[in-house]
Amino acid sequence: MFEKQEVTKKEQVNLNKLQKRLRRDVGKAIADFGMIEEGDRIMVCLSGGKDSYTMLEILRNLQQSAPVNFSLIAVNLDQKQPGFPAHILPEYLEQQGVEYKIVEENTYAIVKDKIPEGKTTCSLCSRLRRGILYRTATELGCTKIALGHHRDDILQTLFLNMFYGGKMKGMPPKLMSDDGKHIVIRPLAYCREKDIERFAIARQYPIIPCNLCGSQPNLQRQVIGDMLKDWDKRYPGRIETMFSAMQNIVPSHLNDTSLFDFKAIHHGSDVVDGGDLAFDREDIPMQPVGWQAEDEELAIERLDVLQIK
Ligand code: SF4
Repeated sequence: MFEKQEVTKKEQVNLNKLQKRLRRDVGKAIADFGMIEEGDRIMVCLSGGKDSYTMLEILRNLQQSAPVNFSLIAVNLDQKQPGFPAHILPEYLEQQGVEYKIVEENTYAIVKDKIPEGKTTCSLCSRLRRGILYRTATELGCTKIALGHHRDDILQTLFLNMFYGGKMKGMPPKLMSDDGKHIVIRPLAYCREKDIERFAIARQYPIIPCNLCGSQPNLQRQVIGDMLKDWDKRYPGRIETMFSAMQNIVPSHLNDTSLFDFKAIHHGSDVVDGGDLAFDREDIPMQPVGWQAEDEELAIERLDVLQIK
């Protein structure tokens, strides 16, 4: 049975502060992108990792005070990977009183059968998983599918696409699924991974390891993740600024002719988006845009209490 250790009063205070910040970030993303509407039935995809546990808890929390009524159902796909601890999620969800469904499909066997030894299995595995989750959403009458990707996943995807795909393309907080039948939402889109990590440790979620299939992690994603973490340490605020940049796009100052009609610029045209400052000294703000000094008290206390260095 899933048991939690006692938390001290101080730990509880820190947990409350972290929860408040996560609630604020999730609430803002939901509002900014119109993620949840009256009467929605949301399928919360639960993998057993820190992100999906946090998403479920924060959504349940917001449900109490949201101005609209919506229901949640947690769904886990048991892909029959060897050693998958199938009892953990049902026990946790029952203890929490959450409506849930465990879908059992042996995609592991299909992937092993179809992909030659040593080749990467993730793309077929994800395709199969996606199909099963869409089908499940239809069966359960869900209007939205919630995935637990966070701000750092979104930035990593942007860089992956720029470095390896030649595209400025991230991960949308809300989109129509590729089968055109479901709306996918990412309520953690504004949440920092480090907040989620600390929250998950403090909440003592029964985390299910994500390497049970034996597949190698995506090395390119890992390299980019490490690059972003390194920047975050060396240049505080850079991650926030880059994320703000994704919400502040100026097509007239990029090079995509499908987004801006450059040919329509002629003598006598209006100045567009401030014109060109190429000949001037650039006025770069000293403080990164979108950056706010962290709540210092919270920062120190949580490192201390949660023993994270
Ligand atoms: S890591 Fe394993 S379970 Fe995850 S997508 Fe890749 S093959 Fe599938």
